[in-house]
Amino acid sequence: MTVLRLHGVHRTHGAGAAAVHALRGVDLTVDAGELVAVMGPSGSGKSSLLNLAGGLDRPTRGEVHVEGRQLDTLTRRQLAQLRRRSVGYVFQDLNLLASLTAAENVALPLELDGTGIRQARRLAMAALTEVGLAELGTRFPDDLSGGQQQRVAIARALVGERRLVLADEPTGALDSQTGEAILRLLRTRIDAGAAGLLVTHEARHAAWADRVVFLRDGVVVDTSGPLPQPEQLLGAT
Ligand code: ADP
Ligand code: MG
Repeated sequence: MTVLRLHGVHRTHGAGAAAVHALRGVDLTVDAGELVAVMGPSGSGKSSLLNLAGGLDRPTRGEVHVEGRQLDTLTRRQLAQLRRRSVGYVFQDLNLLASLTAAENVALPLELDGTGIRQARRLAMAALTEVGLAELGTRFPDDLSGGQQQRVAIARALVGERRLVLADEPTGALDSQTGEAILRLLRTRIDAGAAGLLVTHEARHAAWADRVVFLRDGVVVDTSGPLPQPEQLLGAT
């Protein structure tokens, strides 16, 4: 089943001489059970692609479909609901709320979506257990290590039944062992039926993906095979 489909997607920032063409005609399909790595130099459009896939931004031209629904046809309310229920994000800066415990951070998207507080807490603890933090749910982010905070952010992205997981350099600040553990978690959830897009500049992280999409100047230049060729990695950031 196709979870994410981008069709002829363009995204231009600004206008006239100052226009920046972040994406220029991207077609991409990600099925359930599939993890796609997105690689490419800085400024090539990787984050723009993820923002469009998650409905945080709209294409200038073209269509974005998530779970069969074209995002442009949804009302603001429907789009907000789809983002909370179906899409999990992991950003490089984690966006954890310092005044909430780890468990409260993870439960928050569910509570915002109307899940009862007890059920939300239960699902949050399940997600924290999934990332190996069952014991630390009552800690505040400032009392957790960087790697633990990253795992809380992953738990928040995976909590409930998210079918589309979007990760923008999720291992950025982590040591390699923690980074691998994060990717293993992501892979496990994908194997359980989610679809994922993973922005990374490390070939050994892309190796967890089923497919690699390589972006250059807003265009997909290669999608062949599970790993890019070494010469394509030159210049990647
Ligand atoms: P990447 O994540 O691959 O580094 P981005 O998607 O962040 O690339 O950016 C692609 C291009 O679009 C860059 O030239 C960037 O400067 C530009 N860009 C991204 N977001 C905006 C914005 N909000 N306003 C203007 N230009 C932007
Ligand atoms: Mg980026």
